[in-house]
Amino acid sequence: MQVFYKKLVVILEEYKRKKCPLCGNENPKKIREIDDLSKPLYHFGFGAKPMYAKKYVCTMCKYEW
Ligand SMILES: [Zn+2]
Repeated sequence: MQVFYKKLVVILEEYKRKKCPLCGNENPKKIREIDDLSKPLYHFGFGAKPMYAKKYVCTMCKYEW
């Protein structure tokens, strides 16, 4: 159980750091966070702005994830 918890923390840390899976870039200034317009999460109704899933773009290698 302890091992599982540790693994989970590592995964969360990895997610927070926003490391590019392609080139390994983890400089937050070189990673842009944008709305993924192809993945609307939910909509609050008429006139409301829909929420989109976030995706990241590495400005070093142009990879999106
Ligand atoms: Zn990259």
